[in-house]
Amino acid sequence: MSKSNDALFERAQQVIPGGVSSPVRAFRAVGGTPRFIVRGEGPRVWDAEGKAYLDYVLSWGPLIAGHAHPSVVEAVSRAARGGLSFGMPTEAEIELAELIRTVVPSLERLRFTSSGTEATMSALRLARGFTGRSRIIKFEGCYHGHADALLVKAGSGLLTFGNPSSAGVPAEAAQHTLVLDFNNVAQLEETFALEGDQIGAVIVEAVAGNMNLVPGSAAFLQALRRLCSQYGSVLIFDEVMTGFRVHPGGAQALYGITPDLTTFGKVIGGGMPVGVFGGRKDIMQCVAPLGPVYQAGTLSGNPVAMAAGLATLNLTLAPGFHEGLARATQRLVDGFNAIGRDLGGRISAACVGSMFGLYFSPTAPADFAQVMTADRDGFNAFFHRMLDQGVHLAPSAFEAGFLSSTHTDADIDATIAAARKALEPAG
Ligand SMILES: *Cc1c(COP(=O)(O)O)cnc(C)c1O
Repeated sequence: MSKSNDALFERAQQVIPGGVSSPVRAFRAVGGTPRFIVRGEGPRVWDAEGKAYLDYVLSWGPLIAGHAHPSVVEAVSRAARGGLSFGMPTEAEIELAELIRTVVPSLERLRFTSSGTEATMSALRLARGFTGRSRIIKFEGCYHGHADALLVKAGSGLLTFGNPSSAGVPAEAAQHTLVLDFNNVAQLEETFALEGDQIGAVIVEAVAGNMNLVPGSAAFLQALRRLCSQYGSVLIFDEVMTGFRVHPGGAQALYGITPDLTTFGKVIGGGMPVGVFGGRKDIMQCVAPLGPVYQAGTLSGNPVAMAAGLATLNLTLAPGFHEGLARATQRLVDGFNAIGRDLGGRISAACVGSMFGLYFSPTAPADFAQVMTADRDGFNAFFHRMLDQGVHLAPSAFEAGFLSSTHTDADIDATIAAARKALEPAG
C-alpha cells in the first residue's frame, strides 16, 4: 500500500523535531514536502508514492558507486552474518586502513570514527594536544560537522574571535576559533604575522562543498601550507566530502599539498557510518592509548561499516573509474553552462572530479560573499520543477552535487533537457 509523502511528513513531525534526522532534509530552504524514500538502485531513488528520481545528492556524497551497488551489498551482508559489532579489533580495520594509506600516503597512521563530525572534532583535539595551543582558524562557508568549536561564524573584524552559529554553543567554546575569508591570502598572511605562534590548527575544505562548490585557489592552499609549517601550526584538510571524490587521492593529491592531518567520511563508508582522522605519525601517536589525547568510540571500526568501505573503495580503484566519473560530470556541467549562455547568464556551473556546483549566478563564485549573491528564489523554483520531472538535486542553493559511476550519458542528457525546460520562459 502506498503512503503519501504529505501523510508521512505529518506523522514524522509528531515524533521527530521537524520530521527529519538532519535539518536540511526538511526542505525549509525550498519549501514543500520532503520525499520519503523507500529504496534506491544505481542512480535512482523511489519515494513512498512510487515516483522515481535521478539522484544527484547520493546521501550527500557517500554513494560514489550508486545506490545499493551489488558488491557493496554483498560485502555488507557477508559481514553482518558474521556479527554486527564486537568492540574488539578485527582484520577488516587493518585492511581498510592499509588501503586508505596506500591511496593517501600522508595518512601514516589513522583511526576510525563513526562520522565526519567525530573525525574533525578528534583531529582538532589532537592538533591542540600536540601543539599545546588552543586557537584555531576556520574559513567562512566551510562546514566541518557540528562540534561546538566549529559551529562558529566570523566576528566583527580581523582578530576578533568567532561567535557561535548555534544556540547552545557556549561563547567559551567559540572564543578560540578565528573565522577568516576563504581564498583570501592577504588576510591569512596578516593573521599569521600577528599571532601565528598561538595558532594550534587550521582546518579547511580544500575544495569547499558546503557553500555550493568553491575550489580553493592554489595560491591560498600553498600559503596555508607554508604558514602552518613556518609557525608550527597543524594543517588539517577536511576531506570528508572531497576524499576519494575529487581525485583518487583526494584534494591533497589534486593540489599536490601534504596536510599534517586529514579527515575523511562519506565515500570511505560507502553509505555506512564511517569517519577517519589520520596523518603524521608523530602527531597521531599522541592519541590514546599511545599518548595523552583521549579519543574513543563504541562502534568505531564497526565490521559491517568496514566491509562497506572496503567494497566501495575497491570499486573506485578500478582502472578508469575516476576518469569516467569526471568525464560524465563535465558533460553535465557543460550542459548547464550551455543553458546559462542561452539564457543570458541565469545559471552557471563548474566541477572538480565528480563534485559539481550549479550556481544561480552568471559566473562561478570564488568566495563566500560571492556565493551569497545567488538568486535563491530562482533556485527554489527550479528545484521544484526538477523534482516534478524526477530529478533530485540538493534542496538548497548552497550545496554541491554529486555523480555516481551508475549515472549514464542518457541520464545526464535527460537531466540537461529537464533543466532547460525548468528554466526557459513558458512559451
Ligand atoms: C559532511 C561533512 C562533515 C560532517 O560529516 P558527518 O558524517 O555529517 O558528521 C564534515 N566535513 C565536511 C567537509 C563535510 O562535508
